[in-house]
Amino acid sequence: MTDRVVVITGGSRGIGRAAAIAAGERGYRIVIGYQSNKAAADEVVAQIERKNGKAIAVKCDVAQEKDILALFKAADGFGTLGALVNNAGIVGPSARVEDMSAERIQRMMAVNVTGSILCAREAVKRMSTRRGGKGGVIVNLSSVASRLGAPNTYVDYAASKGAVDSFTLGLGYEVAGEGIRVAAIRPGLIDTDIHASGGEPDRAHRLAPMVPMKRVGTAEEIANAIVWLISDEASYVTSAILDVSGGR
Ligand code: NAP
Repeated sequence: MTDRVVVITGGSRGIGRAAAIAAGERGYRIVIGYQSNKAAADEVVAQIERKNGKAIAVKCDVAQEKDILALFKAADGFGTLGALVNNAGIVGPSARVEDMSAERIQRMMAVNVTGSILCAREAVKRMSTRRGGKGGVIVNLSSVASRLGAPNTYVDYAASKGAVDSFTLGLGYEVAGEGIRVAAIRPGLIDTDIHASGGEPDRAHRLAPMVPMKRVGTAEEIANAIVWLISDEASYVTSAILDVSGGR
């Protein structure tokens, strides 16, 4: 399994970057999708190669189906697909639902939900034993927001992650007999750029006292859970959702 390809969407920064580096160290062949930050994606590739790993970076906005098809075509040229990490995700600026535009909500769902489902579609086509594949793993990045609802902040984001949870359960049941495991991780407050993109760079640290463990998590702590889920050590784990959130 560790000689196979792992596709990680949004692998240029944050949790996706940490997952790419952790999986690259374990010998997987890494295909990093990135939206626009080529320099960051190239740096992740270089870091993996410095440790004798194999990686390529492919521009892929997961809201664009044609980009997803190109990402998986590039992965086909790199080896046999073994896992997909549906990591790319966005938040919007803090707002109440009554102030959200249709464009904001549609973009949130296009990236966080439709993009994840379309990537999973392409992965299942390649990995399902029913279609001649060798099986594999799909890990979806959800969020504790799917449980908490994120009132007055980003209920639309929370709802998108609720959809990711349901998708994880349903797809897992659908392909369990075809050699494919599907799981989700619900990170809590993790120290990445995503909070700045929501308009509040210090959000994770401000809210850290509310976490039972009284600290934010690191991207590497989420990456550790991702590489465990894609490994054979998690061979009986499917349609499962794992909170990695310091108890929150
Ligand atoms: P981040 O630091 O903001 O990084 C986002 C990554 O996704 C970047 O690589 C970015 O690419 C890429 N990306 C953004 N929009 C994209 C699109 N439309 N298509 C493809 N790639 C796109 O995010 P993060 O904190 O690592 O979050 C990763 C995942 O974990 C997300 O699904 C997020 O919802 C989830 N999560 C995070 C936290 C947290 O506290 N950080 C908590 C719960 C869940 P570029 O570099 O090219 O822009």
